[in-house]
Amino acid sequence: MLTFLLLIAGLILVAQALIGLSFLISCLQEKERRASFFAALQLLAMLLLLVFFFHLHSTGFFRTGAGIALLVVGLVVFGAFAFVLLRRTLPNPKALQGAKGLIVGEVKRFDEREIVFARNRSLRPGSEEYKAFYASHPELEAYDTKRRERGGPLGQLGAIDGQSGAANAAAALAPTSIPQSLSGPALVFPEAHPALKGKRIEMTADEATRRVKGFALNAGADLVGITEINPLWIYSQRGEIFHDNWQDWGKEIPVEHKFAIVFATEMNFEMVGAAPHTPTVIESMNNYAKGAYIATQLAAYVANLGYPATANHLRHYDAVLVPLAVDAGLGELGRLGYLMTKEFGPRVRLAAVTTSLPLVPDKPADIGVEDFCRICKKCATCCPSQSIPMADQTVVNGTLRWKLNEQTCFDYWGKIGTDCNICMRVCPWSHARTFPHKLIVEMVSRNKSSRRVFRLMDDVFYGRKPKPRQAPLWAGFM
Ligand code: SF4
Ligand code: SF4
Repeated sequence: MLTFLLLIAGLILVAQALIGLSFLISCLQEKERRASFFAALQLLAMLLLLVFFFHLHSTGFFRTGAGIALLVVGLVVFGAFAFVLLRRTLPNPKALQGAKGLIVGEVKRFDEREIVFARNRSLRPGSEEYKAFYASHPELEAYDTKRRERGGPLGQLGAIDGQSGAANAAAALAPTSIPQSLSGPALVFPEAHPALKGKRIEMTADEATRRVKGFALNAGADLVGITEINPLWIYSQRGEIFHDNWQDWGKEIPVEHKFAIVFATEMNFEMVGAAPHTPTVIESMNNYAKGAYIATQLAAYVANLGYPATANHLRHYDAVLVPLAVDAGLGELGRLGYLMTKEFGPRVRLAAVTTSLPLVPDKPADIGVEDFCRICKKCATCCPSQSIPMADQTVVNGTLRWKLNEQTCFDYWGKIGTDCNICMRVCPWSHARTFPHKLIVEMVSRNKSSRRVFRLMDDVFYGRKPKPRQAPLWAGFM
């Protein structure tokens, strides 16, 4: 029995040291100096404990009464900790309902004309649309005029990095032609290829689901989920005009399709690591382009199967994608107002295809985000414009959630000339998905106590206000 207990204790200590070593390697890979320092200290402590254990063993200490008591107490304490941190705690019933779980009152469909980008791009001063919009939203006119004078939501692109960021500003503009050129009606609402016109390829919903998900992943999506569309998440009126289609401005957007295939692409960890500097806006644009490229092909694929489909990407949205993604099981809504995925945290961009092709919806995911965000608040602490609430969720348009102050956030974008992304960079869920971080996410997703322990550890290892990391060499800006 004693030999068995000693074997278990030895194995636990060796496993701990190995995890400590892999965490140190992970911190070095992340190029996090502070975290690497603390990880090295932690590993040293684990190795000392291991050496001490073998030393005591070699002296025969564990054959004495005190040694046996220490061994038993040590194992019991470890077992208790493991139980507290690993068991699955009660699920969050709200998260299990998806975006519906946020609803506490009457929800009005969003009007796309009110979105800041639509106001900026589609309202030409002096036009009929301009007059009509500000007659009903007079409180926004002065703010929007100031923003337009500054050059739109991003102001002077790359301003934060001055002349040394000029090459990155050029890189950020490079992908923008892709969503734009993929936003014409023929690509957004594709018809079947002439060779397939008038035909429908019959298959079960199971098979169609497997095929469209596989297609999206093969085309470059990193996560894909399916939901039955809640009409509340379809914009009520068209507000974005990209092809002089002014007749569409303010037109009601019908809810035509039953399903949405929602997908996410991972934003590169190193590029986001430099936020709010220019590499992060290159990465945002890169992922919007990827989203457009995948959504366009996926919509065409579904059209070729014989069903109507609409591509939703940066230059054409029928739907508000975050609640659709929550319903499709890709993650939960975080304090910072983005989708939080288990795989990459908020470090993703979304796009989607809506369709009437019969599909099998995914179930919403409960990954512990709401509870974690309630105690974490790191994004709110680090937000330079205090746009993320520190307080609890409030009711906004019939939904209980954390409400980002978009105006102050966009003001900050306009000042620095990038889309900032500091909140995304500092979020503990955004770490590179190395083995130790995958293990931690697994634990915090299932266990409340783990969330409290790892939130504290994130502050200790990475700091309460982590600094931007170095960008990859090619996207340098200093
Ligand atoms: S930083 Fe913390 S509070 Fe903010 S979204 Fe991430 S987990 Fe939630
Ligand atoms: S993008 Fe920047 S300014 Fe906007 S909420 Fe996030 S941290 Fe704040």
